[in-house]
Amino acid sequence: MTDINWNDYTLETQAIRAGHKRTHEDEHSMPIFATSSYVFKSAEEASLRFTGQKPGNIYSRFTNPTVNAFQERLALMEKGERCLAFSSGMAAIMAVGMGLLKAGDHVVCSRSVFGNTVLMFQNYFGKFGVETDFVDLIDTAAWDAAIKPNTRFLFLETPSNPLIEIADIAALADIAHRHNALLIVDNCFCTPVLQKPFELGADIVIHSATKYIDGQGRCVGGAVVASDEIIEKYIYPYLRTGGATMSPFNAWVFLSGLETLAIRMKAHCDSAFELAKWLEQQPGIAKVHYPGLVSHAQHELAKRQQSHFGGVVSFELTGGKEHAWRLIDATEMLSITANLGDVKSTITHPATTTHGRLSPEVRAAAGIKDGLVRISVGLENLEDIKKDILRGL
Ligand SMILES: *Cc1c(COP(=O)(O)O)cnc(C)c1O
Repeated sequence: MTDINWNDYTLETQAIRAGHKRTHEDEHSMPIFATSSYVFKSAEEASLRFTGQKPGNIYSRFTNPTVNAFQERLALMEKGERCLAFSSGMAAIMAVGMGLLKAGDHVVCSRSVFGNTVLMFQNYFGKFGVETDFVDLIDTAAWDAAIKPNTRFLFLETPSNPLIEIADIAALADIAHRHNALLIVDNCFCTPVLQKPFELGADIVIHSATKYIDGQGRCVGGAVVASDEIIEKYIYPYLRTGGATMSPFNAWVFLSGLETLAIRMKAHCDSAFELAKWLEQQPGIAKVHYPGLVSHAQHELAKRQQSHFGGVVSFELTGGKEHAWRLIDATEMLSITANLGDVKSTITHPATTTHGRLSPEVRAAAGIKDGLVRISVGLENLEDIKKDILRGL
């Protein structure tokens, strides 16, 4: 077989075929390389591989063929130069901070990022002398104003969770670059199927593979995608030393997850859009948050920036927390869990779960009302999902 240049292929095909280098056993499906170390032909070869003068596997903390296949495939799909896999999404975010930051540096971060991401910057990087300012995701001027001479990077998720707000990636990339800072985008909600942050100017893309990339709620994993230079200089040395490695088994699960990602994302988005339009028609609902709706404040931006509007919908019940809990408890099929990106639909009450540790004032400032319910729309028949929601409406 000739060496195929997968850059010439489309995302759907890369997702199925790229990354697997067939072995002398002629296997059709990617094997799981369950080996911690590798054997060298001679002492000299061992030395050359350890110093990086000769490519090849060394030790599975930082080189494993199954993990490599996942990395190559995701890098191609994101249109990034190189990807490194990690044991979780949080480990990937940790790696970016550990690789890029030093005491005295400054970070500007969206206020509407994953809760543990806030804690990572505030409690852990903060402990070592890195200061982080949190700003409103959609207030582009506030990002600009928050930047200082020592700002190393800007960090955001778009769409945000649970209010599904959309940040202008291209505008924020411009702002970051004007100040010699990097823009980091956590692309977990969109995946490369819906949004390609590198094409909009981002410098680093983060993934929690735990969500849509797995797609069936089985494994925890994460990834960092960036230029060769950033990976080689800042991220790879930290992975090799820090050791938050993705296991070959998890990489194998994520590889098959990627194979169906495009078709799943489109189905998630179609159902979520239909559900959002239907929810807008139901009594007892004050507001539906979904970027596909013309009522969404950043509808035009979402149309420009994403190929589809995403699989997560949230809505506010007029009856506050009592009604929200009643609706959640009345469902018989939906899974009551804060996880998302699964073929199974999940339902959650952000104010008392994912955002329950915030003070009521901070929660109110973030716009997370007591009547807010979030649904990650799965691939069950949409009519069954509606029926389950109707039980408590
Ligand atoms: C879940 C999640 C993470 C953390 O990923 P883990 O794999 O759970 O560590 C980071 N960012 C976003 C947007 C997430 O949804």
